[in-house]
Amino acid sequence: MKSMRVAVVGGGIGGLTAAGLLAKEGHDVTLFEGGPTLGGKAQSVRVDGLRLDTGPTLLTLPDVVKGLFERLGAAELLPPITELEPQCTYRFADGSGFVAYKDLERTAESAGALQSSERRGVHGFYAEAEAIWRAAGEPYLEAPFEGMAGFMARVAKRGVVAMARGMKLATLDELARAHFQTSHLQQFVGRFATYAGASPYEASAAYALIPHIERAYGVHHVRGGIGALVDALGDAVKRQGVKVHLNARAHYTRDARGYRVGPRDGEERFDSVVVNADPLDSLGRGREPLSLSGFVLLLEVNGRSILPHHSVLFGRDYPREFKELFGGQLAEDPTVYVCNPSATDPTVAPPGKTGLFVMVNAPALPREPGASERAAAAWESQAERVKSQMFDKLLAYDPELRGRMRVMGQRTPVDLAALGAPGGSIYGFLPHGKFGPFRRPRIRGGTPGLFFAGGGTHPGGGVPLVMLSGRFAAEMASKHLRRSA
Ligand SMILES: Cc1cc2nc3c(=O)[nH]c(=O)nc-3n(C[C@H](O)[C@H](O)[C@H](O)COP(=O)(O)OP(=O)(O)OC[C@H]3O[C@@H](n4cnc5c(N)ncnc54)[C@H](O)[C@@H]3O)c2cc1C
Repeated sequence: MKSMRVAVVGGGIGGLTAAGLLAKEGHDVTLFEGGPTLGGKAQSVRVDGLRLDTGPTLLTLPDVVKGLFERLGAAELLPPITELEPQCTYRFADGSGFVAYKDLERTAESAGALQSSERRGVHGFYAEAEAIWRAAGEPYLEAPFEGMAGFMARVAKRGVVAMARGMKLATLDELARAHFQTSHLQQFVGRFATYAGASPYEASAAYALIPHIERAYGVHHVRGGIGALVDALGDAVKRQGVKVHLNARAHYTRDARGYRVGPRDGEERFDSVVVNADPLDSLGRGREPLSLSGFVLLLEVNGRSILPHHSVLFGRDYPREFKELFGGQLAEDPTVYVCNPSATDPTVAPPGKTGLFVMVNAPALPREPGASERAAAAWESQAERVKSQMFDKLLAYDPELRGRMRVMGQRTPVDLAALGAPGGSIYGFLPHGKFGPFRRPRIRGGTPGLFFAGGGTHPGGGVPLVMLSGRFAAEMASKHLRRSA
């Protein structure tokens, strides 16, 4: 087949994946990244020997990552991936705790210590989460979503029970209540909606497939952090011959001969385009509500910290928290996520130091003209209030941290918006409602040869899913190019 020219607009993980796979197929691929570095939301910083991710910190579905590097012929570039056990430690507002393990029996034991009935709840919940994964999750992830007919055909292959299960899914919170009596375990389940930037009170119970995925396939850490994974992916993609242009904000137009893509002063002709930027605006859906944003603090701790790799410190009123967030406000008592990668990985901190990534959910910025400037100004003062709440929660969790923490960086929704995320939203499209996941922007664009890849499109956000979307986009673009060759 004649080599065709493909442009990839955006060097986030989805764009890098599509670019690498298309180049591996023999196409002539040029990637335009608007920012100074590759990785998009998956950035990292190095300060005084500490290496901290500023975006993703937790890896699921490692086989998707390994499979991608194998397809790119670059398995040796992938840093070692370690499975974590325990997976995550939870603290509740009343001072009680819970630990999620890969080992279901240990998870059940930890839940049973909160209230004995919750032990049975763990078994019932995870059995249902696995059934949801088999009935709806696998069919949703195994091929690009091109409409209900194709999806239902894949579900039907799993039998009528699977079809019936898909039809009667409630919200994630309702599913949690069906299995757990304590607000603690209900909060634990509800938290997984935030992996899509959504509220557990509005998102489908289908999101229970995330705790199933974590339990069945593990929670993982890439040595050096996700930043090291991005570096390796960038190297693998360049090795395939992809021409990478940084600081090159590109636009694309179509005419009878194909696409013109590139910065205003340097457009080139291409046969196909994969767009890694969020698709909502270009699809005329820019006024839709957005998924959550986040505020991140990067802390240097003097000495080694005994904190586990992942912790979640819940606020006291979860329904109120989501009401506030989706009402456009910061939570009055926010849930705080803490990542201490040096608990697993000695390469991310020098001896005698610890780096912590600390995050709270935040509403996406309003998008009306002028509103984002006002929101940016508001963040200047809001950040101080949130920071002190985060410090208070951290100190209540581990009093040994007192006097040892120094802020080495922060990322507000304004910073995320500057990376091209609409309203600073981490996942773009908000998948609320029973059919939310099916309204997600599709990979196939509106004109022949145009495809989208990344967290704003199918199957959704998160490192392995955007790799899947990049793979689907590359396969669809390749098919289009074969037809037009
Ligand atoms: C704080 C935070 C925590 C997270 N935690 C996790 C986690 O623990 N686990 C997990 O799996 N995921 C997590 N995620 C989500 C994950 O980072 C994203 O889903 C994923 O990285 C998005 O990849 P993407 O392919 O959509 O590209 P993006 O990261 O959205 O990058 C798109 C790129 O396109 C570029 N671009 C846009 N428009 C143009 C243009 N016109 N021309 C040129 N370039 C353009 C942008 O500059 C950007 O580099 C987190 C994200 C954040 C921000």
